[in-house]
Amino acid sequence: MARVEIRKLQKYYGDFHALRDLNVAMEDGEFVVLVGPSGCGKSTLLRMIAGLEDVSNGEIHIDGRVINNIESKDRDIAMVFQNYALYPHMTVYDNMAFSMKLRRAPGDTIRKEVEAAAAILGLCDYLERYPRQLSGGQRQRVAMGRAIVRKPKVFLFDEPLSNLDAKLRVKMRSEIKSLHRRLGNTMIYVTHDQVEAMTMADRIVVMQGGIIEQVGSPLELYDRPANLFVAGFIGSPAMNFLEGRMTETGFVMRDGTHITLPAGFARAAGDVLLGIRPESLVLYEPGDPAAISASIVSVEPTGAESHATLILGGEEVTAVFRERLPDTPGAPLSLKLSVAGTHLFDKETGARLSGSGH
Ligand code: ATP
Repeated sequence: MARVEIRKLQKYYGDFHALRDLNVAMEDGEFVVLVGPSGCGKSTLLRMIAGLEDVSNGEIHIDGRVINNIESKDRDIAMVFQNYALYPHMTVYDNMAFSMKLRRAPGDTIRKEVEAAAAILGLCDYLERYPRQLSGGQRQRVAMGRAIVRKPKVFLFDEPLSNLDAKLRVKMRSEIKSLHRRLGNTMIYVTHDQVEAMTMADRIVVMQGGIIEQVGSPLELYDRPANLFVAGFIGSPAMNFLEGRMTETGFVMRDGTHITLPAGFARAAGDVLLGIRPESLVLYEPGDPAAISASIVSVEPTGAESHATLILGGEEVTAVFRERLPDTPGAPLSLKLSVAGTHLFDKETGARLSGSGH
């Protein structure tokens, strides 16, 4: 068990400032996902925690102890890589037993630990196979098994599911979650996939350009994004952003279209961006106070929902309706906004000013 704390962490690659003053704590037993677009620095942070990259400045603590200068192998950490890094000439058993053999553990202890990990991961029937004789998902499980037998304080995962097809990714996602529930270790997991982050994390660290944009539980980030970046990154389909300004009566888009904001919506002054989640555009019903006019560009039925591209005040927006809509380009629609999922952002700073979730 371990608490990992990052304090004022900086990373330079030559002149390039890859990580800029990161501060975050991962609590004992937490499943923390580092997420952000390609190049934001999430793998660099993970590799620094693992001891595979030097720290330029700042500190990494595990259970209160600074580990900056402790060698990777002595950090009590196990890392599962994207490419699994299995030894091709070794059986599954030998791959999983390797680290214990290096530590000269007794043979019967090794067998016990490997068999216990194999049982957790459903690998008991595959112990004598070689990696090339396994499916992608099975190889992924061997990589996790190899980490489990090391009994580390902290598990680190670097995009471990990106080589798997979509269906297997969903299955392995829930396997890793239940592994976490079972083992209770601190786990730090890197992905660029916000859906993976949302579905797996206790807490998510959203990164961009070497900084941390926000830390919070998946629903905190969804309901109360700190800024435009987080609002646009978390959620699929993504939040719509409309440019305009606030007036006494509501929000006015650049082309003059007036949008009545939902009752109870907090106000802000001046030039703002109105953020609207696709599911927060709902069909107007007779008797509702004010309608917003839009027209259909296209409708994609998923069965359970209709994903629609619409024109609203001259701008294209995405909406997700529970109702089934005809795919009739140009057809008019009357909409209203639901207060949940509607936010105002400062146009200059990108900070969220008000909205649902306050
Ligand atoms: P991805 O999802 O594409 O793996 P990432 O968020 O994990 O992206 P990092 O691999 O941490 O990004 O890289 C962060 C930045 O640091 C990138 O701009 C990258 O080009 C740069 N970088 C990483 N490793 C090195 C290196 N060894 N030398 C110089 N620059 C590097």
